[in-house]
Amino acid sequence: MAILDQLRFNNAFAQLPEAFYTRQNATPLTNPKLVCVSQPAAGLTGLDTNTASLDRLCDITSGNDTCPSFAPLAMVYSGHQFGAYNPQLGDGRGLLLGEVQTPQQGKWDFYLKGSGTTPYSRFGDGRAVLRSCIREFLCSEAMHHLGIPTTRALCVTTSDTPVYRETEERGSTLLRLARTHIRFGHFEYFYYTRQHDLLKVLADYTIGQYFPQLVNDTDKYLLFFQEVIRKTALMVAHWQAAGFAHGVMNTDNMSILGETFDYGPFGFQDDFDWNYICNHSDHYGRYAFSQQPDISYWNCGRLAQALLPLIGDAESLQTVIDQYPQLYSGHYTELMTRKLGLALVEDEDPELIKSLLQLLQDEHCDYTLFFRALCAFAPDTPLPDYLQTLQQPPLLRWLNTYAERLKRNLMDNRTRSQAMKQVNPKFILRNYLAQQTIEQAEQGNYKPIEELLSVLESPYDEHPEYEYFAAAPPDWGKKLEISCSS
Ligand code: AMP
Ligand code: MG
Repeated sequence: MAILDQLRFNNAFAQLPEAFYTRQNATPLTNPKLVCVSQPAAGLTGLDTNTASLDRLCDITSGNDTCPSFAPLAMVYSGHQFGAYNPQLGDGRGLLLGEVQTPQQGKWDFYLKGSGTTPYSRFGDGRAVLRSCIREFLCSEAMHHLGIPTTRALCVTTSDTPVYRETEERGSTLLRLARTHIRFGHFEYFYYTRQHDLLKVLADYTIGQYFPQLVNDTDKYLLFFQEVIRKTALMVAHWQAAGFAHGVMNTDNMSILGETFDYGPFGFQDDFDWNYICNHSDHYGRYAFSQQPDISYWNCGRLAQALLPLIGDAESLQTVIDQYPQLYSGHYTELMTRKLGLALVEDEDPELIKSLLQLLQDEHCDYTLFFRALCAFAPDTPLPDYLQTLQQPPLLRWLNTYAERLKRNLMDNRTRSQAMKQVNPKFILRNYLAQQTIEQAEQGNYKPIEELLSVLESPYDEHPEYEYFAAAPPDWGKKLEISCSS
């Protein structure tokens, strides 16, 4: 284990031509304090979490010092935001500090969000506030432990530097770890600025770094695109199965490695609702929960467009992208049948899933509580507690169909119940829990973050001492809409 300065950095992105970024240092925050650290994330990089190491981390994440082996830079990219192309994006409030090469865990980008203005800040102040850093911190760690591909979070640091949103807040940073920070929007930038030679440099770099098995293939660009499609479809299938709404699926928030990326006004389903819109600014529901599979498909189309100069053959690109709906629904059905404890997928299972979701919607059932209770369901025995509270005729009819289906299942009830508990979490990051934790943190009490994190790190375990984190949300805590201002 080591302090930051002792980690081995291999800053490959910083060796690309200057057209890809602007070199830039973080702007210091005053009187910084470390708010929270993820031990598992620190472990991935080999970073020690003793006091000396954390003090050093605080100096660096507050921009008050830097590490000689960093090569900090702001990346340039563009992207489609809410369906319209925006040619002017880029890291407006974050820096890629460097890439750590670990002996066992591969390469990790160290990225500091909230690090001050850059040439891409436009009218923004380059800062992030405490609430948004805590939300990303908790959610990215929670998603990882749910088994959903995601970027990670190492720590949050706050300060006395005032930052103005609707009110005065505290300038804070999040140290994000990710396999890459290359987004769909990176490719769009070089496509739309007609710098197709640099587009090729970017594609070759991305393939060399992240898809080395394709480097020598004559169809490497097409195969790379196929991989992106595959990973994206899997990620979104996971979101839908977990009841997760991202909120801002712009192409600049889509990682080329299919990792959940750039946490903003996200939300998990409480009472299941297909039309759930978690982003307060999404007036037309473009990024509503039900839209996510289609939007990610559309986003892949934007990437296909940007890759056209390299592939040349629009027809092959179309053939690849046409696979998306089937890839997605295959993954989704597989994940949902696992949630139902079914060992094999049968032809009628998609219908069983669809009718269940309609029922959850009509009866205002809590998505997570329902599936967790279903783990304890067995035909001809009393209903588990949560299902008892719901005893509606349509639900009982569905349970009968399910019980019939279970007769053809290859698992006995005990094995099924155990398997279901491994894929139906007891604990998710409900918006109201994040909200309560943030309110405490804003008063200087960081203990609740640690407690909540401890259940989110093993969300399938029982944690009887933290039963209240698994309870249904209070009425005020349902359907919280989160603003984009962060
Ligand atoms: P996001 O909605 O966080 O994905 O951000 C979209 C774009 O706006 C990115 O280019 C960000 O870097 C930029 N941005 C967001 N907030 C700020 C801010 N406070 N200051 C400067 N740029 C920002
Ligand atoms: Mg973004």
